[in-house]
Amino acid sequence: MIDTDVLIIGAGPTGLFCAQQLGIIGLKCEVVDNLDKIGGQCIELYPGKPIYDIPAIPECTGEELTNNLIEQIKPFNFNFHLSDRVQKINNKNDKWHVKTLKGKEFIAPNIIIAGGVGSFEPRKFPPKSCEKFEGNSVLYSIKDKTIFKGKTVVIFGGGDSALDWAIELSKNSKVTLVHRRDEFRGAQASVEKIKELQKEKKIDVITKSSINDVKGNKTLELVEIKNDDGKIISINADYALGFFGLIMQLGPILDWGLNINKKTIPVNTENFETNKKGIFAIGDICSYPGKLKLILSGFHEGALAARGCFKYARPNEKYRFEFTTTSKTVKDRIGIKE
Ligand SMILES: Cc1cc2nc3c(=O)[nH]c(=O)nc-3n(C[C@H](O)[C@H](O)[C@H](O)COP(=O)(O)OP(=O)(O)OC[C@H]3O[C@@H](n4cnc5c(N)ncnc54)[C@H](O)[C@@H]3O)c2cc1C
Repeated sequence: MIDTDVLIIGAGPTGLFCAQQLGIIGLKCEVVDNLDKIGGQCIELYPGKPIYDIPAIPECTGEELTNNLIEQIKPFNFNFHLSDRVQKINNKNDKWHVKTLKGKEFIAPNIIIAGGVGSFEPRKFPPKSCEKFEGNSVLYSIKDKTIFKGKTVVIFGGGDSALDWAIELSKNSKVTLVHRRDEFRGAQASVEKIKELQKEKKIDVITKSSINDVKGNKTLELVEIKNDDGKIISINADYALGFFGLIMQLGPILDWGLNINKKTIPVNTENFETNKKGIFAIGDICSYPGKLKLILSGFHEGALAARGCFKYARPNEKYRFEFTTTSKTVKDRIGIKE
């Protein structure tokens, strides 16, 4: 059981900046995110795209913003629990008991939900038979590309991820790219590259087809593909990779007894607390009159929610407002030597 002042759900820009604000006021926190990396939508949906409306930063990409936010909270050494989803919460004696899908448990007087548009989950292959191999030879993301070296890989999808990985893995693996349409949705340069590799017989491309079944014992041995005319072909395969994009689901958050309005959590704008004492919601997931779904709004909301947590985490202390510029206590917390 991990005992902390605040459990933050979501490591998007809002959750990250809120962690910084908690650190500044002397509170501890733990951060859980369903993704395998830190950064939320910025890192998952537009890492390379420039953002132009972060205060005082004329231009930075989603990845640069994430890296800067991570850098800013380094002094506090907060723990991140990635690839895990907060599943259940219960209140006992004014403390929240939190359980994740992977079985981690936390106890905290405060929970800050910075869950954005919900947890990102990959769209999976429809055949039930794929579940048996999931995480082992049926994959929806790649953590270590070296496992595919010298192997036979069937990649499904028509967007950038499917094309990029088909191009990359064709260097060291036998790759078949399968797409249900004739045209690919990815960047033109990638589509051209795929055609070139196909001509050079470095990659097989099958269109107007989708996965029908997978077969094997402990690991995958065969992938069945069905075309639009109902014809089925089998391909020997060590891996089947699906890149069909992500679905965003509020999932378990819906079961926690919180007021929900059109997939968002209504909050008060004084401290961003929800209808449950000690549960706050900030960023894209919260709603109030005039809410702007922008990163800069999430930063402001996180600053106020952090102060809102103080009274439950330190019931016998009075919160004192301090500037980072002038407060010795804050500078000590950040590790600034003068
Ligand atoms: C293409 C695009 C361009 C954009 N451009 C701009 C821009 O120029 N300027 C701007 O200000 N905004 C922009 N935005 C919007 C901006 O990205 C969002 O406002 C911002 O990411 C919201 O941050 P967040 O931290 O609230 O949520 P998110 O970034 O969505 O992060 C939420 C995190 O919570 C996790 N999560 C959810 N539920 C759970 C759970 N139960 N357990 C564990 N983890 C969970 C998710 O996996 C996710 O990582 C853009 C968005 C998109 C899609």
